[in-house]
Amino acid sequence: VINLETMKLAEFLDHSIPCDCGRNHSTTLQMVEISSGALAKLPKSLRQLGYHRPFIVSDVNTQAIAGRQVADVLEQADLPYVALTIDTPEVVPDEATLGRVFMRFDLNCDLIIAVGSGTINDICRFVSHRLGRPYIVVATAPSMDGFASSVAPLITNNLKTTYAAQIPLAIFADLDVLTKAPLSMIAAGFGDVLGKYTCLLDWRLAALINNEYYCETIAALVKLALQRTIANTDGLLNREQAAIAQLTEALILVGIAMSYSGNSRPASGSEHHLSHFWETRLLFEGKKAILHGTKVGIATIIILKLYEYLRATIANFKPLTAATLRETDRDWEQKIRRVFQAAAPEVLLLETTARKNSPAKRNQRLIVIKEQRPEIRRLVATLPASGEIERLLSKIAGPTRPAQVGLDPQTVKESVLYAKEIRDRYTVLQLLWDLQLLESFADRVVADLWGTPRL
Ligand SMILES: [Zn+2]
Ligand SMILES: [Zn+2]
Repeated sequence: VINLETMKLAEFLDHSIPCDCGRNHSTTLQMVEISSGALAKLPKSLRQLGYHRPFIVSDVNTQAIAGRQVADVLEQADLPYVALTIDTPEVVPDEATLGRVFMRFDLNCDLIIAVGSGTINDICRFVSHRLGRPYIVVATAPSMDGFASSVAPLITNNLKTTYAAQIPLAIFADLDVLTKAPLSMIAAGFGDVLGKYTCLLDWRLAALINNEYYCETIAALVKLALQRTIANTDGLLNREQAAIAQLTEALILVGIAMSYSGNSRPASGSEHHLSHFWETRLLFEGKKAILHGTKVGIATIIILKLYEYLRATIANFKPLTAATLRETDRDWEQKIRRVFQAAAPEVLLLETTARKNSPAKRNQRLIVIKEQRPEIRRLVATLPASGEIERLLSKIAGPTRPAQVGLDPQTVKESVLYAKEIRDRYTVLQLLWDLQLLESFADRVVADLWGTPRL
């Protein structure tokens, strides 16, 4: 029997855990160093792991925050390295940026060091995987849960797409660096963790309605990370070292949960789909990007509201008629072309293989939904109120409303309606579509957020 509560982070790393779900869970993450002065331990750890010539990737920001220090400690330890600092003002993980890293990579290097918690980490996770080299992460802010993720969200053909990649060999989180992170980045990490409420319920419902794999132990691990983080809200506001260490650990535990399930299911649901939709839209419009966790925090509140409407509505479930099922979105393709523009071909292609909107699959799910109404209601009732999450986020000055980060009602409405098309993953958005509630709920949530008459 596994007692998650008392397990130290290191214990999750070094062995495979046989689980009640029928699988053995393990991760290839070998080392996590969360401490004050962690970077000084880097050269010794590299030698211990058997590496002698790292390729260091940073951007202008992360170079100043930790990159230079990484280079310094390696030099002092007589470890040769090659460094690349991506000097574009805003690093976008697209074809051009990845191409640059591939072109500059020195084949004599035996390992990649990603200096950065977000985009740089995503890039290195993928590039190292394709180059057949391991990689390690030097965290620069506790801003998102991608540290130990096994997939890389990258942008191809203007669409955010999740690519298979590899998890890092080691994570170095120097608390002297992380406690100096801007409060907005700490609040973003907090928001990314809060999103686990909705993503875990999406996962649970997907298992119930869509017959998907689900693991109680993995879900419990993520819940534990969530609870510990919430208990630390005040400490985060005051940037207490212990609270920052705990948030970092929670973000890494979520990554380990993803390794355990073999995909991002335990960490990413409908709240992440909204966030990805907004990100792609902002990119198209040439607008300034918003921190991943900031978007996820705001999206979580929106998804919680949708769940609240569902909880009040599901008792009056009306089966859809055969005519409705056939009629479904006759002009769907046109709508997708209008909403996704340059990214539309990728979205349309996805549906040709996923067929998640086909009348046959929808009908199958509706049969289960009808049977499982009481259970769905019971599960939805376990969520916290949207107002409670809003209160927690604002406590550490995190934005809670789309308008605070420049997202307009139209974008939010379209994201609620179409974010589910970005990938084949059953969430509350598909559930509401199944029930023909998505359209009215999208209007309702926009009216609720902006306090304006419904669109
Ligand atoms: Zn399991
Ligand atoms: Zn996230």
